[in-house]
Amino acid sequence: MHWFFRTSFFASLGLMLWTFPAYASEQHKHEHGTVTFNVAIDGNVLSLEIEAPAINVLGFEKSPRTDAERQTVATVDAWLSAGREIAGVPRSAGCRAQSVIYEAPKLGSGHADYRPRFVFRCGNPAALEWVELWALRRFKDVEKAKVNVISASMQRQETLAPGRLRVSLK
Ligand SMILES: [Zn+2]
Repeated sequence: MHWFFRTSFFASLGLMLWTFPAYASEQHKHEHGTVTFNVAIDGNVLSLEIEAPAINVLGFEKSPRTDAERQTVATVDAWLSAGREIAGVPRSAGCRAQSVIYEAPKLGSGHADYRPRFVFRCGNPAALEWVELWALRRFKDVEKAKVNVISASMQRQETLAPGRLRVSLK
């Protein structure tokens, strides 16, 4: 599953996986407290892929047992599939949501991940100075937010300081 998303994510942007050895070596390491944001800019398309352990999205990771937990799952499903309040960019970039690729994880007795992907089309991509990862406000107990940014001209990895949401795209 992981590689399907990874491959399709970069393939869709016309970028070759082998140019990003850091991603390849990380593979899928589900670590509670660590969420990853993959931001890619290709022409006027901005893509954001999130990889988050269910425990950092829901507050729990097993199948829901109470009404409150079921409600939490439903709320998260509605939030992520709508793709609202996920991220912000400068208004002048003129970005509009184009598509959301979201499949609710199967919650059972083991680990589970959320891996939604959001695609925006921007009328003025030159104004994409930054992106704010608003999704972090709703995530729970995140200790480490890793961000990978790639575009035709650069690639960068950083770890956001606690409480920080904004990532430079320049
Ligand atoms: Zn887990």
